[in-house]
Amino acid sequence: MFTVTEKAQRPARMDGKCFYCQQAIGATHKDDCVLVSKKVVVRMIVEYEVEVPQEWNAAQVEFHRNAGSWCSNNAMRELEELQEAQGCLCHAARFEYVKDASEPYLSE
Ligand SMILES: [Zn+2]
Repeated sequence: MFTVTEKAQRPARMDGKCFYCQQAIGATHKDDCVLVSKKVVVRMIVEYEVEVPQEWNAAQVEFHRNAGSWCSNNAMRELEELQEAQGCLCHAARFEYVKDASEPYLSE
């Protein structure tokens, strides 16, 4: 139950109502109003090629990336290179919902 305030209006229609769910200021936003938000955790899965020594096996590749001194920040440069080469990451990336991470909150 989130009360509509004047901040729920938008310049295109300052009519004393939520721009999205049309409820009046002082009433409560509808349950499906887009201004009632929540945080969720997503998992980004990206598949791309990296260069490693030819004799490394799967365990060595994963150890180097997950338990060695390699910093995951380095992946940002790799992803930028992939994006420059491919135009975007859509062919390589997909997302999965993991879990809710907050209670609903108002984001007027
Ligand atoms: Zn609303």
